[in-house]
Amino acid sequence: MSDSPIPILSTWVEVPKTSDFTIYNLPFGIFKNKKLSPRIGIAIGDKIIDLSILDQEGFFANMFLPEGIFVKDSLNELISLGKVQTKKIRERVQTLLLVDNGELRDHSARGKVMVTRKEAEMLLPVKIGDYTDFYSSIEHATNVGKMFRDPENALLPNWKHLPVGYHGRASSIVVSGTQIHRPKGQFKGSDGLDFGSSQKLDFELELAFITGKPTKLGDSVSTEDAEEYIFGFVLFNDWSARDIQAWEYVPLGPFLGKNFGSSISPWVVTLEALEPFRSASPLQEPEVFPYLKCQKAHSFDVNLEVFIQPDGKKPSKVCTSNFKSMYWNVAQQLAHHTVNGCNINVGDMMASGTISGSTEDSFGSLLELSWNGAKAVKLEDGEERKFLEDGDTVIMKGFAEKNGIRVGFGEVSGQILPAKS
Ligand code: CA
Repeated sequence: MSDSPIPILSTWVEVPKTSDFTIYNLPFGIFKNKKLSPRIGIAIGDKIIDLSILDQEGFFANMFLPEGIFVKDSLNELISLGKVQTKKIRERVQTLLLVDNGELRDHSARGKVMVTRKEAEMLLPVKIGDYTDFYSSIEHATNVGKMFRDPENALLPNWKHLPVGYHGRASSIVVSGTQIHRPKGQFKGSDGLDFGSSQKLDFELELAFITGKPTKLGDSVSTEDAEEYIFGFVLFNDWSARDIQAWEYVPLGPFLGKNFGSSISPWVVTLEALEPFRSASPLQEPEVFPYLKCQKAHSFDVNLEVFIQPDGKKPSKVCTSNFKSMYWNVAQQLAHHTVNGCNINVGDMMASGTISGSTEDSFGSLLELSWNGAKAVKLEDGEERKFLEDGDTVIMKGFAEKNGIRVGFGEVSGQILPAKS
């Protein structure tokens, strides 16, 4: 969509060719290490720019930032300054990293400012107030409808008229690397109703956006203004217990089959960084109500991959998908979420729903890849899976690439531990 050429930028920082964290990206995150308390950083190559030290050393002079704004254990206060300020901060860092700029490169504080990423622990980037999960992939909704309802009428009558979603649980959203215990619950077993550890544990490949601007109760956000309210995106793994979910979801929707944990990647990729990868959404038919119509493209061409790594073995790629194929885009999701006057706050998280493509290798969950356990998904080393086993690590990666320019998300990973006794 975006045909304007991306200006070529070079940096004095050594950035590996395959790095997600190029000078075009500069995502925000919260990190700490043995010596440093939690603070805000920007990733570049294998390094983190410690924004609190940059600030201390006067690199943000004349920007009127509140004192200590970067010495925080979440991005919420920074994001609350508004897009004008956060854009300026990111652009200032980009300028400092340009190959011809000696301000930081030749500064005595450079060593303190540049933290090695491997030596840092990444924390949850935002305090998440509310979490909503959409269901916006037509391929995913169709697959699920075929499996559990009527193959001839896989989509429910409302699906093409509104972006279906539900309110999830914010407290159990954790940062990449956090281990997840297999959940226990009620489900229908082969001998009738059973209680125990889930036998159908699954992942869901999603992207989530984080809101950066609040609204008042009663107000609505239009599709035209929606992006003003979106700070950035993370990878999102919506862990799902299919057996618990199948028994409990009628009539009020997902509950314990979902709220035992969701994992996100630690680096928040800003909307500005994704701009060159803007992409049109699929044509919507039937026509949607005016409040859901869009004047411009609001999807993004982001390649997505899922790997399963059995304990002590190699990871195997099980899914290759893309965000741009989603039927409902982020502007429509936000417009629909607020059309009734529901208010949003800084730090709300809105996940896309499972991102499945049209081919069998692009399905974003094991439920679809194994067709609810009807066939095994082949992994390397002779392993195969219908659903996740204890010890499995699920790794999701995402990156956008155009004309050799790469903006990536890094990864979100999580290992499954046995159910707690
Ligand atoms: Ca989901």
